[in-house]
Amino acid sequence: MNSGVIAVSYISASALFILALNGLSHQEKAGRGNLYGMLGMGLALLATILGLVTNNQGYLVGGMVSGGAIGWLLAKRVEMTHMPELVAILHSMVGLAAVFVGYANTLEHNTVLSGVEKTIHDVETYVGILIGALTFSGSVAAYLKLSARISSKPLLLPGRHLFNLGLLIAAIWFGAVFVGQSAAGGGLGALIVMTLIALVFGVHMVVAIGGADMPVVVSMLNSYSGWAAAAMGFMLGNDLLIVVGALVGSSGAILSYIMCKAMNRKFINVIMGGFGTGSKAGAAGPAGEAGDVSSVEAEEAANLLESAKEVMILPGYGMAVAHAQHIVYEITNKLRDKGINVRFGIHPVAGRMPGHMNVLLAEAQVPYDIVYGMDEINDDFPNVDVSLVIGANDIVNPAAQEVPDSPIAGMPVLEPWRGKTTIVLKRGMSTGYAGVDNPLFYKENTRMLFGDAKDSVDAMLAFLSK
Ligand code: NDP
Repeated sequence: MNSGVIAVSYISASALFILALNGLSHQEKAGRGNLYGMLGMGLALLATILGLVTNNQGYLVGGMVSGGAIGWLLAKRVEMTHMPELVAILHSMVGLAAVFVGYANTLEHNTVLSGVEKTIHDVETYVGILIGALTFSGSVAAYLKLSARISSKPLLLPGRHLFNLGLLIAAIWFGAVFVGQSAAGGGLGALIVMTLIALVFGVHMVVAIGGADMPVVVSMLNSYSGWAAAAMGFMLGNDLLIVVGALVGSSGAILSYIMCKAMNRKFINVIMGGFGTGSKAGAAGPAGEAGDVSSVEAEEAANLLESAKEVMILPGYGMAVAHAQHIVYEITNKLRDKGINVRFGIHPVAGRMPGHMNVLLAEAQVPYDIVYGMDEINDDFPNVDVSLVIGANDIVNPAAQEVPDSPIAGMPVLEPWRGKTTIVLKRGMSTGYAGVDNPLFYKENTRMLFGDAKDSVDAMLAFLSK
């Protein structure tokens, strides 16, 4: 394949990736967006394999077949509720790849390049390994938190900001040592020390972040993995990798910014840790207010729904765990057939990954025109007769507004308590991901329907179908 064909293929693949991102920003066009992405990746792979790889094809095929098989199996087996962990671990792979490429490149080019060219190459390598290593260890820590293998509570070391600053200064120092020594053919020791520092920084950054702020971390690591790929592009002199990495890096950064806005957080504060930190008053405050809980059975809940004119359904992580979305849509249809206006209210961080609830509702064929974002519907709650909270907790927690030193203070939440009646479907009284008690459950106009969300909606549907 000549270089002209490769260049045209790379430009076409870049254009397809841009179209893919554009498609993925609208629910209706998301399927087409995915298709563009797959076509772009197919084209990029073909051009690279047929055009750039000139020897050792056996290794390439072996790697692709075994890696592809592992990816296929993982994607087939993974449950929707475990997608965030899978995404986190896949981000870690991009980081690890950048580290390996960086080391391979250093060992290979140490004797080939010289002068300014070598300095530029060393700086690229250094930055690539730095981003790659912190993406790797940060993503592994995020994986462990999201899969509940380690606590979602923030681990706050005394003097953590000073510790971070120390790590940053040390990383820059060893970077300078590496570039200096590399000119004389050495520097590997400094590079290894810097890699270890970056690994520690990645873990520390993520474990210091409180549960409710994890969505920002997930999208931030997504962005880092893009920059790690772009760094690999620089190291390997591959333009397409630079373009694709920059696309992923910048779109991830924009998503992180959107998430921060949605959570009313300052990006820099989330990165430095300290939000979602579980202050004493925050954890104990709502529990202190805890009073009696009014519980209902499925029949009464179904009656309340049937006698409403305006129903708002607020899904959360528990709906994903219970796989209740299809029955929820059947209930929606039953109620709409009876002339009741049913809408869905979606919090930007509901579930465990950006867009989690939208994906579930789309899978259940819920029409887009009855699905609203939090900002669109929060003012309507006073007109809502029944809000049905399905497996949600943090996203409907009034402590965010009522308890100033709560770990989730300031986070915008859906406000069903401003409506006439709220029915909450959950199994018990346990807290949500942020580990904060929820005063909503004790409000006078709240009714708790205890049980697995799927069983509860099944039972309600049975009564509504009578
Ligand atoms: P939460 O984690 O706050 O609450 C979910 C609730 O669902 C739990 O309290 C649990 O209560 C209940 N539940 C679990 N399983 C079932 C079941 N089978 N049937 C019925 N109920 C069930 O979820 P939210 O969606 O309200 O909030 C999301 C949280 O996750 C936020 O804190 C957010 O910051 C965080 N997060 C979000 C990410 C994102 O990108 N969207 C990424 C990482 C974290 P019980 O055990 O009593 O049933």
